[in-house]
Order: sequence, then structure tokens, then C-alpha cells
Amino acid sequence: MDKIDIEKIRNDFPILKKKINDEKLIYLDNAATVQMPKEVLTACDTFYHDAYSNVHRSSHTLAIKATQIYETVRKKVQKFINAADTSEIIFTSGCTASLNLVALSWGESFISAGDEIVITAMEHHSNLIPWQQLALRKKAKLKFIELTPDGRLDMNDAAQKITSKTKLVAAVHVSNVLGVINPIKKLASLAHKVGAIMVVDGAQAVGHIPIDVQQLEADFYAFSGHKMLAPTGVGVLYGRKYLLEKMTPVMYGGEMIEHVSRFTSSWAEIPFKFEAGTPNIAGVRGLGAAIDYLNKISFQTITEYEQELTDCALNALKKITALTIYGPLTSKERLPIFSFNLDKIHAHDLATILDAEGVEVRAGHHCAEPLMTDLGVIATVRASFYIYNTEKDIDILVEAIEKAKDFFNHGN
Ligand code: PMP
Repeated sequence: MDKIDIEKIRNDFPILKKKINDEKLIYLDNAATVQMPKEVLTACDTFYHDAYSNVHRSSHTLAIKATQIYETVRKKVQKFINAADTSEIIFTSGCTASLNLVALSWGESFISAGDEIVITAMEHHSNLIPWQQLALRKKAKLKFIELTPDGRLDMNDAAQKITSKTKLVAAVHVSNVLGVINPIKKLASLAHKVGAIMVVDGAQAVGHIPIDVQQLEADFYAFSGHKMLAPTGVGVLYGRKYLLEKMTPVMYGGEMIEHVSRFTSSWAEIPFKFEAGTPNIAGVRGLGAAIDYLNKISFQTITEYEQELTDCALNALKKITALTIYGPLTSKERLPIFSFNLDKIHAHDLATILDAEGVEVRAGHHCAEPLMTDLGVIATVRASFYIYNTEKDIDILVEAIEKAKDFFNHGN
């Protein structure tokens, strides 16, 4: 394996040189959005300078160039997640839009009263509310796979909850709160055994671990560009061809049609029937550059480095007295996303103190309110790491937490 050249990687991310509150920036909010390397920033900038135009519409040179760039990235995404065909790759505005598309299209057509939708107790609202609202509209039953005490999916419960009435199973690949990697292939097997489809929220997995949608046996796989080095406002929905072909569009407008008359319309082929209106073309260009960047480093290098960071951070955080860490305390099958609370200190207060030290973390419910309820808290602090973070960043986080602890103790 190539050892990661962390200094070289850090040099690729201009924002990491910034000072925050006169302190060196320690960016630990990667589960919210990861920073972009120069390669991605330059690719978007170059697109605006050299090829900015609309796609799939005009026949002039610039438009042809823009369309080629856009479709080249579709091919790149197909390879990146090992989809069987480029028509299975739909560009969306992000993971949320991708999941809603499945619920509003496949769900609206194929879920009926009395059917069961099975999701997990660790879902982000983006992979919960679309199913909750679909179940309410259709009078279907929404069921939850519970978690083990250490914050992993309880696969015995999964086997119980998925029944002959189940039509759809939806699960997060990597939890944005607990950092745990879920056994998607096993869930998909359970789903397929009863004839249900498997929907995966890959927001926190893509860019961290290699994704092979065919090997995972996912029927739909959703993710966002901005969590994998690309800009905000671009994302992907992968769907199996035979499923996408049976689905009706949920957004209507330009470029998704075959023919339109005053009173009727017919739709373009997949994926275009799901891409109404002008897409985020520069964002798609950035997504392509992000994939190139990740491939250049290689997933073996990325996953091994993230494993090192996970080990190191877990060891360090576990040593802080009065710190409660939510999620698995071993580094097996998890990524470096850590949610915690310090004693009785409110998560937002702790995050504010960390910010004063230049340590950027997120505090809140992380769009997973039902999980917070299960954990018995209203909020946590979350520190999440990526390939440009170092063991020194972990030391600085720990020092800042210890400082906060002293501050609050003195205040008492
Ligand atoms: N699912 C998970 C697990 C996430 O972490 C996020 C982003 N926080 C989303 C879905 C939604 O992603 P986006 O806001 O980019 O649509």
C-alpha cells in the first residue's frame, strides 16, 4: 500500500491554511461537508471560463463541449460505484433529493395500504421522513430495526422486522451520528428474500470506502457531492435500470420529455426523464474531479488512513473522564465520526468553546432526532475526520475538550 502523504494532501486544500479566531483551523465537521481540493476548485473554475453553457439543448460548440463534460462525469460515476449502465446514474441536487425521488416515484407507485416499509433507528431525517410521509399517505406500516447497546444494527431484529409484507428496506450505509458501517449486503439479502427492494443512503460512505452497488445488491443508492470533495448542490441517485424504467418522473419541465402536446406528454429515456430543468453542470464537473482525486489517492490508502485516525481518536477520547461517546467504542466496522457529550455541559456550549480554539465541530441533533431520543439526549457534539486530518488534530481536539472541562468546572 502507498503510505498516505498527508502534507501533500493538506497542501491541496487551500482552506486548511486559514486561521479561525486567530488559531490554526482544525476542521472536524467533515460529516456535514468536506473541503474541496485545488483540483476540484480549478475544474469548476475552468468549466466556467472555458465551456460554460447549457447541456443537451443547443447544437453550438460550447454547448456540445458542456454536454460532453457532463456525460463524461456520468460515465465516471458509473465506474466509481460499479453500476451496470450509465443510464442508472441520475444527477440530482444531493442525497436528500435522491431519496425523495425514490419515495415520490417508486414509493407512490408501488407501496399500498398494509404494506410494510422497514428502516433503521439510526436514520438521518432524509432517509426517514420521505418513508414516514409515504407510509402516512398510503396507510402502510413503518417499522424500525433497533440498535444493539453499542450502537450497531441489531441484525436479529432485522430478520424479525423484514417479513413477507415488506416492500422496501431503507438504511444508512454509514451513520452520521454513530460512525458505524452497516452490513448493507446482509440487509439487501433479507429484503430480496421477501421480494422487497433495498434503498441505501450512502451520504457518509461515498468518498470513505469503495462502493460497489452491484456487490452490495443495492436497488437504489443515494449520495451527495459535498461529502466527497465535490461542491454543494450536486448529488447522485443510482437505481437499477429495470426499476427506473418502471418509474414515473416526479419533476416535470425541460429536457425530460419525448413529446409534449397541449394535453399530453411522454417522457425521455432514463436517466433524462428524472433530470428536469437545467442541472448543476459546474457541480457535476466538480464531482468528476473529486472522483479523479479520490482514485489518485486510492481507496486502500484512504480506508487504511481513516482506520488509523479512528483508532487514535477513540483511544484519546476514551481517556477523557466525564466524556460519553455514542456508538461503537471499538474501531471495527466504523469510520472516524464521533458523537459525544461532556458531563452536563450543553453540546452547543462545548462546541462554542472548541470554536474559540479553532476546532470546528458540529453540535445539535444531526438531523437524527429519533436517534437522539433513543440515546436519551437532545444534542451531541460531533467531531468527524477526513483524509486531510492528522493525529495532531486529535491532540488539539482533546486539549480543547480538557480546556472546556476546566472552564466549566471553574464556572461552577
Ligand atoms: N444522509 C446522511 C446520513 C447524511 O449525513 C446527510 C447529510 N448530513 C444526508 C443524508 C443528507 O445529505 P444532503 O443534505 O447533502 O442532501
